[in-house]
Amino acid sequence: VSAASVRAEDSKRRVLKDVFGFDDFRPGQDAVTEALLAGRHVLAVMPTGAGKSLCYQVPALVLGGLTIVVSPLVALMQDQVAALRLAGVAADTINSSLDRDANVAAWRRVAAGQTRLLYLAPERLMTTRMLEALARLDIRLIAVDEAHCISQWGPAFRREYEELSRLRGIFPDVPIIALTATADETTRTDIAAQLFAGCVETLVLGFDRPNIKLGIEAKQDGKRQLLSFVQRHAGRSGIVYCLSRKKTEEMAGFLDRNGVRALAYHAGMSKDAREANQNAFMTLSGVVMVATIAFGMGIDKPDVAYVFHTDLPGSLEAYYQEIGRAGRDGRAAEAHMLFGLGDIRMRRLFIDDEDAPAEHKRRAHGRLDTLIGYCETAQCRRQILLGYFGETAMPCGNCDNCLDQTPQADGEAEARIVFAAIAQTGERFGAAHIVDVLLGHETEKVLARNHHRLASFGTGVAHKKDVWLSLVRQLVAGGFLTLDSGGHGGLAIAEKGRELARGDVSFRYRVEVRSRASRGKTRPA
Ligand code: ADP
Ligand code: ZN
Repeated sequence: VSAASVRAEDSKRRVLKDVFGFDDFRPGQDAVTEALLAGRHVLAVMPTGAGKSLCYQVPALVLGGLTIVVSPLVALMQDQVAALRLAGVAADTINSSLDRDANVAAWRRVAAGQTRLLYLAPERLMTTRMLEALARLDIRLIAVDEAHCISQWGPAFRREYEELSRLRGIFPDVPIIALTATADETTRTDIAAQLFAGCVETLVLGFDRPNIKLGIEAKQDGKRQLLSFVQRHAGRSGIVYCLSRKKTEEMAGFLDRNGVRALAYHAGMSKDAREANQNAFMTLSGVVMVATIAFGMGIDKPDVAYVFHTDLPGSLEAYYQEIGRAGRDGRAAEAHMLFGLGDIRMRRLFIDDEDAPAEHKRRAHGRLDTLIGYCETAQCRRQILLGYFGETAMPCGNCDNCLDQTPQADGEAEARIVFAAIAQTGERFGAAHIVDVLLGHETEKVLARNHHRLASFGTGVAHKKDVWLSLVRQLVAGGFLTLDSGGHGGLAIAEKGRELARGDVSFRYRVEVRSRASRGKTRPA
């Protein structure tokens, strides 16, 4: 440890305490500030609220000179500058909402070396005039906030951000920090490539919410499953997410008839009705909000005891955002999801129906596969979730898989039975029909297609229907079977399934169907 690094360590702690009034860095802030002070580029990925601003504000003050902060929205810049000035820091912004005099005055302070942090929108920074003027000043650090705006694949692409890729060439000796809350691997790689030509230290931190218990249950009778979950948390506030507007009203009505104080919320309701329900949820205790994803942005209610998904969310990132509304008070909270094959079909349809380029659809299907993998895993869910955000973790002891040691078994024989039935019926029928064939059910559809004469008919009587349905889901999740994207749920054997049939790869499956019966063994939350 060099004398210089000890001094840097000392002064950043002093800045943290004296300027911002905090005793300790949060996880992540320490590593990020250290790398910047050592002159390295950093891509910092942290969730909203984790404390990204301090990651560059502290080094800016330790380094002295001028730090440039690029931010996409005028309102964000104004807020940050106001907060810094309150803390006694010389911060300025030059932007389109200020009058000419104010901008001129700000520039005079910057040029005189009085300003420590200068906030600019990308289009203003990247003008030749501004860049030439800045080149004459003592620039020590550049921070690019909301850095995912540079990625075409990200959710918030901004053309003005593309220009920022020239920064590293224009200021070759200045460390650059890019900040984002987006975890998508493609977006991250894109940020690293565009801003840093791939040469950057990526630090991902602070995504864990250990007090939220994670659980997923096979969807059977969704209404009943929801009611029994809500009743286990009687008197607590909760959020129930549904895929459609109609379903929120149905589910809220159903809960209400069963003695639960439940309200609906979706974008199709009148503004007054929405506000009234939101107010009731925020101010009363024990109200259950049954909503589409229109509900939640900016909702900060600390004592939400659970988030229940009646349907598969849009992506693992959306899921993370949505469950993050539970347990903000740090008390034990729960995230519970119902999951069935119909959900996968629905989500595939959504993606295919979208009016988007093929490449976007391919990526969307990939993101969906990641989410399905999370649903079907027998591993610790938190490990998978945090792993997606780039963090490593030990088995958490607070998810259904950790708590409920569901036995696994070798499923090769079962898989072959399923494959045979799928092959013999022409690879176009859904799970329900395939299972009818396996169980030897002489349904109308089976008889009409002569499927009772197939060799596969009745070959699956050793297991119950639920076991077969779960097996099929696990085979789909494992990539052994594919679901047609035409919306009919037709099952076909994937290349990986053929490998399994040949004995080239193995397949283990969860024996027990996760249901109310198996929940008794879990620790109460
Ligand atoms: P982000 O930009 O990641 O959403 P912010 O930078 O706005 O988050 O910080 C979120 C909140 O956390 C702010 O109120 C900030 O003051 C607080 N905070 C940040 N770092 C620390 C710390 N080391 N100790 C205590 N509070 C902190
Ligand atoms: Zn776990």
